[in-house]
Amino acid sequence: VERTLSIIKPDATERNLTGKINSYIEAAGLRIIAQKRIRLTRDQAEAFYGVHKERSFFGELVDFMVSGPVVVQLLEGENGIAAYREVMGATNPANADAGTIRKDFAIDVQNNSVHGSDAPETAAVEASFFFSEIEIV
Ligand code: ATP
Ligand code: MG
Repeated sequence: VERTLSIIKPDATERNLTGKINSYIEAAGLRIIAQKRIRLTRDQAEAFYGVHKERSFFGELVDFMVSGPVVVQLLEGENGIAAYREVMGATNPANADAGTIRKDFAIDVQNNSVHGSDAPETAAVEASFFFSEIEIV
C-alpha cells in the first residue's frame, strides 16, 4: 500500500462537493486515513506550491488556494499515488477522461477541484506538511 496527499480545493468546497469527491476516492479503492477542513494561510500556500514559484501562474494559484476552505486528506491504497491521479484526471479538465473527478467537477485548469501528490518523495513531504502521526489512523 502507498499513501498520497489529497487536497479538495476551494472551487470544490465552495460548491459543497466534498462528499461527492470522497465517493470517487472510495470507489477507486482508496481509504481516507486522515482528513481535515482548514483555511490555508498565504505562507502555507506559497510553501506547499514552492516548486511552481517560477511559473507564470504562481501568484494566481496562491490567491486561489487561499480564497476559501480546503479539505486536506491522506489517502492509502494499492499504488495510491497513481490510483488517485487516475481518478483525478488530467490537470486541465478539458483533457480529462470520462468518469474522473476533474472531468465531472472541475471548472478550468486552475479551478480543478483536487490536488494529488505526484511521487513517493513528494507524498511524504506533503503528508507531513499537514498531518502529524497521531492524526493518521
Ligand atoms: P496538483 O499538483 O494540484 O495535483 P497537477 O499535478 O495536475 O495538479 P501541476 O502542474 O502540479 O498540476 O500544477 C499545480 C496546480 O497549478 C494545478 O492543479 C492547477 O490548479 C494550477 N495550474 C497548473 N497549470 C496551470 C495553468 N496553466 N494556469 C493556471 N493554473 C495552473
Ligand atoms: Mg502537481
